[in-house]
Amino acid sequence: MNAVKKVLIVGGGIGGLCAAIALRRQDIEVDLVELKTQWTVYGVGIIQQSNVVREMAKLGVLDGYLDAAYAFEDVTINTTAGEQLARIPGQRLAGPEYPANVGISRLALHQVLSETVAALGVSVRLGLSFESLEQVGEGVDVLFTDASRGRYDLVVGADGLYSHLRGLLFGEQYLPRFTGQSVWRYNFPRAAGIDHLATFQGPAGNAGLVPLGRDQMYLFVTSHEPANPRMEAATLATQMRQRLSGFTGLIGELREQITDSDQVVYKPLEVVFVSEPWYRGRVVLIGDAVHATTPHLGQGAGMAIEDAVVLGEELIAGGSVEQQLQRFMARRYERCKFISDSSVLAGDKEMAHDSSFDRIGLVRRMLDVTAAPI
Ligand SMILES: Cc1cc2nc3c(=O)[nH]c(=O)nc-3n(C[C@H](O)[C@H](O)[C@H](O)COP(=O)(O)OP(=O)(O)OC[C@H]3O[C@@H](n4cnc5c(N)ncnc54)[C@H](O)[C@@H]3O)c2cc1C
Repeated sequence: MNAVKKVLIVGGGIGGLCAAIALRRQDIEVDLVELKTQWTVYGVGIIQQSNVVREMAKLGVLDGYLDAAYAFEDVTINTTAGEQLARIPGQRLAGPEYPANVGISRLALHQVLSETVAALGVSVRLGLSFESLEQVGEGVDVLFTDASRGRYDLVVGADGLYSHLRGLLFGEQYLPRFTGQSVWRYNFPRAAGIDHLATFQGPAGNAGLVPLGRDQMYLFVTSHEPANPRMEAATLATQMRQRLSGFTGLIGELREQITDSDQVVYKPLEVVFVSEPWYRGRVVLIGDAVHATTPHLGQGAGMAIEDAVVLGEELIAGGSVEQQLQRFMARRYERCKFISDSSVLAGDKEMAHDSSFDRIGLVRRMLDVTAAPI
């Protein structure tokens, strides 16, 4: 008999939603609480690589997910002017009939995942969090912020970079750190040649074009912002154009079309990594709560999704909860640490203008690591 029959998930982002799906697929009862009252996500896209496509198949959502996404195969790395330096072929890890990679709008991804969660009978409560947790005997007693109570075999914290649960488990030991860089993003109609992920090495940061649908793509660029200044909302378009000033070719052409500050999505990059087991007793943390990294390798959400799938597998594989969580850690720690450290390293090298850094080699290594079975 399974040691875990009823689980509370705190946080309804990508990691929490995928955990809810993975656990329901194993017949585990799931309650999910999400702090936001309006369960929406901000409207830019996300890159999901071959390992994510494979995990989406395991979660049983692949067809709906692909319908909502733009499928592509290769990744190119280009100069500032758009000359190709490398073309890295995609790996079809979900099977030969499925694409290697996808670009998808965050809203579309949220819709696919939240509709699946609802269809699988997860109890979702919005505008709610936990007030306190008490591990008593073989369970966790939870007091919610609306004064209701519940008892669970396991609590999964998927509450993101500023995780309240991480503070509860580890105190102030692990706090988000600003890396010195920010990312700027802007949606465009998809350009004809952007049928794959195209990245461009700039003089001060890297830019990229990600197809999201037949008619849509987004442009991103990283920038060095050592003082982490507060950006005036009305100046965002001008500032994003400045950050793209060294680019020519397609990126240079698109730069001149960045005119609406309301459409610029600006994000300072913050990271955290918990370097000890991500659980205490019957509370386990997944996703950005324990390994938020920078987007340089496009794998942050990928690692949260893999966490969810592996947790679902281990919770029905026998043994005590302690043994299950130990096995979960054994399968997750090194992989997530590699992604976290390598992503931060890529940003550090950009900030140091280190032209000897082998970014193409790092991307190839990341693809090898993430293609390996978990
Ligand atoms: C600029 C940028 C670009 C990125 N691009 C990519 C990419 O291309 N590909 C990729 O794979 N990854 C990318 N990432 C990383 C990815 O966005 C994150 O790794 C992923 O969203 C983490 O998911 P999560 O569910 O762990 O956390 P989150 O998405 O942060 O979700 C946490 C959820 O918990 C809720 N919550 C918080 N506190 C509580 C509480 N106390 N009680 C209840 N609910 C709570 C929040 O409201 C939120 O809904 C990018 C990140 C950034 C910053």
